[in-house]
Formats: sequence, C-alpha cells, structure tokens
Amino acid sequence: MSGDAKLVYLFSELNEAESRVEDWDGVRGLLGGKGANLAEMTRLGVPVPPGFIVTTEACRGYQDAGALPDAVWDEALAATEQVEKAVGRKLGDPHEPLLLSCRSGGKFSMPGMMDTILNIGLNDEVAEGMSQSTGNPRFVFDLYRRLVQMFSSVVLNVPDQLFEEVLSAARRHAGVMTDPELSAGDWREVTRRFKDIVKTHTGKPFPTEPRDQLKLATEAVFRSWGGKRAVDYRNAAGIPHDLGTAVNIQTMVFGNFGEGSGTGVAMSRNAATGEKELEGDFLVNAQGEDVVAGTRQTRPLAELNDFMPEAYAEFEQIARQLETHFRNMQDMEFTIERGKLWVLQTRDGKRTAQAEVRIAVDMVDEGLISQREAVLRVKPDQVDFFLHPQLDPARAESRKPLAKGLNVSPGAAVGVVALDADTAERWARDGGKDVIMVRPETKPEDVHGMLAAKGIVTLRGGRTSHAALVARQFGKPAVVGADSLEIDLDKRELIADGEVVKEGEWISIDGTNGIVHGGQLPTVVPDLGNPYLLKILQWADEFRRLEVRANADYPRDAERAREYGASGIGLCRTERADAIAELLPLQRNDFAGLFRAMDGLPVIIRLIDPPLHEFLPAYDELIQDLADLKVRLQHMHTMSEIDDALDQIRVKQDFLERVSALREANPMLGSRGVRLGIMIPELTRMQTRAVFEAACRCAREGVDVHPEVMIPLTAHVKELQVQREALENEARTVMTEQGLEVDYKFGTMIEVPRAALTAEQMAGPAEFFSFGTNDLTQTTFGISRDDAEAGFLMHYIRNGILADNPFETIDPEGLGRLIELAVAGGRKVRPDLEIGICGEHGGDPRSIALCHALGLDYVSCSP
Ligand code: ADP
Ligand code: MG
Ligand code: MG
Repeated sequence: MSGDAKLVYLFSELNEAESRVEDWDGVRGLLGGKGANLAEMTRLGVPVPPGFIVTTEACRGYQDAGALPDAVWDEALAATEQVEKAVGRKLGDPHEPLLLSCRSGGKFSMPGMMDTILNIGLNDEVAEGMSQSTGNPRFVFDLYRRLVQMFSSVVLNVPDQLFEEVLSAARRHAGVMTDPELSAGDWREVTRRFKDIVKTHTGKPFPTEPRDQLKLATEAVFRSWGGKRAVDYRNAAGIPHDLGTAVNIQTMVFGNFGEGSGTGVAMSRNAATGEKELEGDFLVNAQGEDVVAGTRQTRPLAELNDFMPEAYAEFEQIARQLETHFRNMQDMEFTIERGKLWVLQTRDGKRTAQAEVRIAVDMVDEGLISQREAVLRVKPDQVDFFLHPQLDPARAESRKPLAKGLNVSPGAAVGVVALDADTAERWARDGGKDVIMVRPETKPEDVHGMLAAKGIVTLRGGRTSHAALVARQFGKPAVVGADSLEIDLDKRELIADGEVVKEGEWISIDGTNGIVHGGQLPTVVPDLGNPYLLKILQWADEFRRLEVRANADYPRDAERAREYGASGIGLCRTERADAIAELLPLQRNDFAGLFRAMDGLPVIIRLIDPPLHEFLPAYDELIQDLADLKVRLQHMHTMSEIDDALDQIRVKQDFLERVSALREANPMLGSRGVRLGIMIPELTRMQTRAVFEAACRCAREGVDVHPEVMIPLTAHVKELQVQREALENEARTVMTEQGLEVDYKFGTMIEVPRAALTAEQMAGPAEFFSFGTNDLTQTTFGISRDDAEAGFLMHYIRNGILADNPFETIDPEGLGRLIELAVAGGRKVRPDLEIGICGEHGGDPRSIALCHALGLDYVSCSP
C-alpha cells in the first residue's frame, strides 16, 4: 500500500475516486460495486443516506498486515466526522445520535455472503437518550437488540441460535406469535439478555464505545473476505480471490419507525421473465434485512402505492432513472422513514436466462444498448439453458401438485429430497444423487447445498429472497414460498396436505411455473424457439467470424444441425459397420443423406479411424472357441463329425495366428487412423468409392455437394501423399463411371504434435486442417483420456495441479501453442487453407474463444 494513497472516500467524493482509476470498472474495483453505485447515485441526486467507503485497497492492506492499518482507521474517523457534519448528529451523542450501518461490497456482488451490521452507535446511554427524544422506546430497543444480535454473531462469533432462543422465549412469554407484537419492555429485556449472552460467551461485555463498534465491524468485514463461505462462493462464481472487499459505512435510516415507515427490495424488470414491470417485495414497519430473510410474509411492491402513494411514485421515477443511467435492469433496496424515501442500494439485477435474452432485446428496442452489447450480455451458459429440460407437460399437467409457490428460477429439476445443505451436498457429491434441497428458507451458509442440488424449494420468502437470488444466479430451478408445505426435521420428512414425502424420496419441481410435484416426473428438452433468444442469435450471426459446423454421422443429425443453423459438417465418422464388405452400401446411403441435408454446404468425411483389432474377431473369444471345440472333439464318434470339427479347428487356428500377429499392446497408439488406410488400401478405396458414388448420385438429383475427405491421425506428410494418391485414383474412377465431376477437397486431421510441427509440409497435399482436439490432447499430454479421467486427472484438478480438465477446455498453453504453430505453418504455404476443430471442445465456450483468437475458420460440435 503506498503511503499517501487515499483509502477512504465519502459517497460525495466519487470524482476524486474517478481521478485515481481509469474507468468505471476501475472505480468498482476500488470502491466495490455497492459503494461505487451508492456514490454514483449520490452524484445523480438520488436520496442516499450519507456515508463513506473504506476501499478494497484498504482490505488488501488489512490482509497483508493481518490487522487494520492505522492510516485506514484515521481516515475512517475523519470521514465519520464529515458524515456527522452532513447529517447534524454525532456518533455516541445521547441526544442527537448518529447510527451507522457497516456493509461489505466487493467489485462483484456476492448476495448474502457478508453480513451487514445495522444500528452501530447504540449503547445503554444512547438508547436511553434516543428513547426520550423519539418518545418511542419500543423502536429504540428493537434497534439496540438487533445491533447486539448482529454484531455478536457476525463479529464476535456468538452462535445465532442462542439469540433466537431468547427471542422465541420472549414471544412465548408475551403470548404473541410475531416480533412486531412485542412491547418496549419486552425488547428492553431481550436486549439485556442478549448482552448477558455475549458476556457469558465471550468473557467480555458487549462493546459500548461506538467507535470501537465501528472499527471491529470494519475489521470483521475484511476478515470475512477470507472466510469459507466467501471463498466457496468466489470459487463457484469464478471471482478472483485477490480483489478484496470494500466496506460501506452509512447513516442509518429507519423503516421500522411505525406504520408510516417501511422497507423493500425491487427489480426494475421481472427477473424471471424479463417483462418490463417494476416488481418487488416490501414490509411496513420493518428494517431492511427482514425482507430478504424471508421470516415475515412480504407484500408485493405494487401495494406500496396504496400505503404511500407519494413515496411509491418517487421510487418508480428513480427506478426508471437508474435503469436508464446504468443501462441495465436494476435491483434496488429502499427504506421509507416516516414518509421520506431513501435508496440504499442499486445494482444490475440477477436474472434468469429467459429474462436476460428478453431484456437484452427490449433494451435494444428502447435505444438503451446496441445490438452488439445485447449479444455480449447474454452469456454462453444462458444460451445453454435453453437446451435444458422442462417437465414433460403431457405428464405434469394432469397431476395434482404437491404444492405451489413462486416461480423464481425456471427449468425443471427432479431429485430426492434433502432437508439441509450438508445432506444435499453429501448425497450429491459422494452418492452421485440428484438432489432437491428443501428448506424453510435459505441463508448464506446453505449455499454449498444449493450449489450441489439440482433444484431448490423453500417454504417461505419472496422473489427477492436469498434462495431466489442465488438460484437464479446459478441457473438452478427453484420454487420459493411454497407455504403449504411443512418440514418435520425430527422425522426428516416433508408434509403437504397430509401427504408425506420422506427425506430421500423423489420430487420434481417446475421452476418455470412454481410447482412442486411428488415423484419422479419425466422431462423434455425444449427447442430453441424462444423469440428473444433467436433474435440474439441472429445478431450474433452478424458479428461472428467463426463458422459453426456440426459433428454428425447420420442424416437425422445433419438435418437437426442444419435446422439450428450449422454451416456444414465438420466431422462425419465412418466407423460403425464391422464387416468391411457390408460397409459400402450402408455408408453410401448415409453419405447421400448427409449431402442432401447439407445441400450447398461442405461435408467433411473422415476415413476410418479406430484400431484394427476392433475389426477382427476377439482374441479371447477365439481361444475360448478353440478350447470348446477340442473338448467336443473327444466326444465325437463318426468320422465325418470328426473331420468337420478338425476343419473348424484349422480355420479358428488360422484366425488366431493372424489375430495374435496383429495384436497390439497399445491399440490407441497402434494400427489406427491413417496407418490402417496404408496397411489395408482396400479400406481407403472402398470408402472413397462410397463417398463419391453417393456424391455423384446426389449431384445428379440436383443437390449441390461438397465432400471433403479427411485423413485421421497423420504424423508425416508422406502418409498424406500416399493416401491422397490412392484416394484420387479411386475418385477419378468413380467419376468416370458416373460420367460426372464433383467438387471435393482432400485434407487431414491434426491429432499428433508432429503433424502440427510440420504443418508447412502437411499443407502441401492437404487443402484443409481439422484439429482433432481429443486425440491431440492425449498425444500432447501423453495421457489416455479414459485412464486419466478415471484416475489421476481428477486428483490433479482437485489439487490445482491443472486448473481445468484439458478434455473439456482446450489447454491454451500447450495445445493452443501447437494450434497456433500449425495455423501459421499451414497458411504460409496455403493462404486459403480451411482450418477448424472437431471434437467435444467445439462446444466449449472458452475453447471456442481460443479458436477465434487463433484465427480458425470454424468450430464443429455436436448438433
Ligand atoms: P446485502 O449485501 O446482503 O444486500 P446490505 O448491505 O445491502 O446487504 O444490507 C442488508 C440490509 O440492511 C438491506 O436490506 C439494506 O437495505 C439494509 N441496510 C443497510 N444499510 C442500511 C442503512 N444505512 N439504513 C437502513 N437500512 C440499511
Ligand atoms: Mg443489499
Ligand atoms: Mg482422433
């Protein structure tokens, strides 16, 4: 940390923060997302309670030093004085006390990950003074007990359960069901008991000095950045661990001042569907965290209009202003204190894939963003979502649901009920089960279970509850607020209208409609018919440079691929008929089907690839057969029987000799790929004949055919030359027979490092390259995929030896380097060399990005 850098900024000092960093992204990096937006709202004139931000840089200082550096604290104290001046109240002053909240906020929002502490500045003296000045001791002691509870559980690690027990005892004692019914005296007593708990549990009294409270809270936020919950979340969300969090210290405003006050959360558009309508939840006479906690039943935001029409109108206008300013859907928190509206937070709203595509398209129509921006906003996994299952309507619609709730995160999930996060995680991870986690509500410490589960159900909570937010962010189907369900944790079961589902039994949830079904319902994969998605994909087509082809072996796959917009076949494998003589007519028909489906587009057909032994009788079987025959021979009597058996034995023995001669220790590195074509020229000839007969036949029908014949696993240019000659001879023969010429290409797969290293030579005979990235990964790493994934590779990934599975995402440094070399070498000789990849990497977003960066022409992936 440099000595003179500013470490604390008032919300009103945004300009100074901006002068230190280049752009808005940098501001967010320094002030955190929450702080940056609070400061930006302050600049826009939105009513934000005054406050200041302790920067992420200070957090890194804390992490380095293991304690809050003095310089940071001095600046924070100075900023506190500024805030005191701005609001005309003082921290610790019993007559005009300033109360503060302490909130974390890193560059990326991590919902619910770090706990906010409200009402800092209260102690016995301040509470008494405030009771007098407000004339409302009930209100003051409710604030005070909240401070003691939050502060002690978050900062002092006192188990929250202890406080909850006091609360239920207080309710029982007073004979009431809910907290709002408790009296001033009740809260005074609860506060006293809370402080006793703290003293017993920590051995020290609850800190009474407001500045100590503030300092301890600030440190606790910085400490929590390194806590397990936060680390797990960052791992799951791909957020770097060295960013650090900022701390926002802000003047308290009170939504729990009485019936004229309230608090709520709102989204500027519908987060599930994307529809343009303000939606949210609010509570009258409540403090902020009550809404998200899902402990009290919230009201829909629209009803705020009935309670407080002026505040509602102002909020509606601010929501529009913020959306236009940030050019994105906003997720906002507000509090109304005695009729006066305050905005406490705004951020880009988390939303479902459906909402994302719709909002992106709508915002283009509204002139807020460009088409390009719209395309960039939609993430690959959001497109992927549309390929995921929904409950089969034919089966689901006729059934009586177990329960209904809010449809907060769409899609279907089918799994066994797990009633807590640890069970969900254990069953999913160790048992390999599909799990639906069912909870009364969720809290940050449940996130690991939510991540492990296929879907989430909560009994309480609204559209902005913790469960809803986290589910949407991770694309987990979820139904929240299914309040007709009951959980019996003693019996470990779920009760719905008298029906019992035991933990471990199946349920099926429909997050699109908010329905929970008993049992294991079938699911269907929807088509890509969403009109907003199609629009985004159509725009994407206008910007992209990479072509997309499909790997398809059968005409059916080719038709589907074409329907989805594939611009050719990048890989048609030819190895599935086992007897060579039977291969020809079958293959001819398939090829013809592919050519028809891809009329006008290239179809790459790879010649036979698998190891030779796959075409031969199995060695073990032959041995067994021979043994059986010999046993039978001993029981034979007639001469003709014996002669027959001897004949059979001779044939099998010949086979066995041939098979043992061809037997390989490492078939995957043996006679396969191009080596087969060279050892058995018949193979190449026959397949070429099949390709060209089919091509000629289709051409005669008027189909525009473009066969591209591809040789697998070549390592040396000589192999290609030999194959090319064999192939061209046969192709010419067929075309002469058919009296027709078809346009074709000859090319090679690049699957071994030598081929990549000698790309300049390979590009002589080859008119195209296709990187077979599966084999290339095996040959570059020198590992076999099956052995690796069943063994050491998972260990490598778990222990961080490899960051990613190279069979899922192309290894950018090793494979990427080879591809780069091969592209350069090939294009040097043949500038128009057509280059792509085939294999599973062709469907992996990061691999696709790499292929784009390396200048490939296309990726080919499964249809
Ligand atoms: P989260 O990141 O979990 O949303 P926040 O820091 O936004 O945490 O705060 C939790 C709750 O406390 C929110 O409902 C918020 O509106 C409320 N809150 C935070 N600061 C204040 C404040 N100064 N006055 C009133 N309520 C506040
Ligand atoms: Mg918040
Ligand atoms: Mg291969």
